[in-house]
Amino acid sequence: MTAMTSPPPALAQATQAFLSSDHGLLIGGARQTGQAGSTFETFDPATGQVIARVAEGRAEDVDLAVKAARKAFEGGWAGTMPIEREKLMWRLAELIEAHGDTLAELETLNNGMPLFLSKFSVSSAADMLRYMAGWASKMAGETLNPSTPGEWHAFTLREPVGVVGAIIPWNAPLNMAVWKLAPALATGCTIILKPAEQTPLTALFLGQLVQEAGFPEGVVNIITGFGETAGAALAQHPDVDKIAFTGSTGTGKKIAQYATGNMKRVSLELGGKSPMIVFPDAPLEKAIPGLTMGAFVNSGQVCAAGTRLFVHASIFDQVMESVAAQASKFKLGHGLDPQTTLGPLVSRQQHDRVADFVRSGLADGCAAYMGASSPDSAGYFYEPTLLVNTARDMRVVREEIFGPVLCATPFEDEDLSAIAQLANDTEYGLAASIWTQNISIAHKLSKMIKAGSVGVNTHILNDAVMPFGGFKQSGWGREKGREVLDLYTQIKSVAVSL
Ligand code: NAP
Ligand code: MG
Repeated sequence: MTAMTSPPPALAQATQAFLSSDHGLLIGGARQTGQAGSTFETFDPATGQVIARVAEGRAEDVDLAVKAARKAFEGGWAGTMPIEREKLMWRLAELIEAHGDTLAELETLNNGMPLFLSKFSVSSAADMLRYMAGWASKMAGETLNPSTPGEWHAFTLREPVGVVGAIIPWNAPLNMAVWKLAPALATGCTIILKPAEQTPLTALFLGQLVQEAGFPEGVVNIITGFGETAGAALAQHPDVDKIAFTGSTGTGKKIAQYATGNMKRVSLELGGKSPMIVFPDAPLEKAIPGLTMGAFVNSGQVCAAGTRLFVHASIFDQVMESVAAQASKFKLGHGLDPQTTLGPLVSRQQHDRVADFVRSGLADGCAAYMGASSPDSAGYFYEPTLLVNTARDMRVVREEIFGPVLCATPFEDEDLSAIAQLANDTEYGLAASIWTQNISIAHKLSKMIKAGSVGVNTHILNDAVMPFGGFKQSGWGREKGREVLDLYTQIKSVAVSL
């Protein structure tokens, strides 16, 4: 059993002040209670205690937010000088850093992630804004050379897509918000953001910073509320031009259907069941911590988490032993305790879902090499769990668990196409990693893997420049990098007969 750390230290004053303030919706530059006047509770998953009540936005609030976003879009935001948008985005990045301690505490308190991760989230949110800010003045159309007889000046314009609805999950709330916000702002779109019901707090705090940075009213709107009401209203809204969604594949399929009403653009970043493939020559001093973090960081609540581990039979036992030893060093506990390296799952529901998956795996014939239990706590903790004796048709191997559960399988094949087949034997295709010192194997297999991101001797490089998204049922489109601009802009071709 992994050691539990002690109770959390007191919150900083700024965090306490925010928690005890009103948590209204942000619509058209004003904080407001929802039209229905209702609120909902939000929890600390490490204790199960209520930490705040936030406004519950519904369809009528979404409608107001869309109107505000439309007005801001048509009223000049789309036509602002790129350098002005760039400056505002830099200002927001600076404010995020200046309030980084508060944001990190709120993220940890609401999501459960250890403070070292929420601090990393703060700095990567600021980095993402700065990286995307640069594109505001650098994205452009191109001139074209038609073969049609005549003399032509033909070119493309790259224009913002318009009003964007963004629906995000609870596993990395601040980063998910900024992954949507940054490209929208850079390209001149306006946005309505609906955070997950479990984790509204950092999005609301970010809303305050957006106002402080001086963005025109209505450019960024934040509607806290539930998926089935606020989320669905946003995805169905006839005056939303694009929906950007991150979450489960099941909900992603609904979003795609809702979007057909007005044929709004859709980008989807969905689930995963990502393989990690370890060859006999893998650099184990790097691989063991890499595999362990790849599987268990943020308690496995990472869409790109490595959840299927394929290890060459000749080193299988050694790798199991080493991964288990590495994982047993995690300190489970309240994320605000600086000793903690693994926090709780986000909710009771998620905890029970993970426990149920592990039970099903054991019933199907898996053996628990480590974990498979919850420590005694009021919080929603689950032990890092390593399952062996797995088989391809088991639910634990096929479905996204979104918890600290790693399924390991040995392979004997030397043939790369057989190994690729193992790795690709999933309806998902978000990420994969290959652990070897053989550059030929690494490059050949990278090409054969059907996934949007491949790591070699690293599980995933989380950096603003790296496009991120899924093959197969892991989604549509690529976020981050230059590629995300395609999701938030559209091309107009203009032909001038000279
Ligand atoms: P989810 O349903 O996909 O939630 C993601 C976002 O979509 C949330 O903001 C949610 O709102 C919203 N939503 C839900 N139903 C909606 C609808 N009908 N129309 C519009 N928006 C809707 O995920 P979840 O229910 O929180 O978690 C379920 C499972 O999904 C997890 O166990 C995990 O396996 C997976 N998951 C994957 C990712 C990922 O990044 N791949 C992220 C989160 C969850 P509410 O918060 O109000 O539900
Ligand atoms: Mg939900």
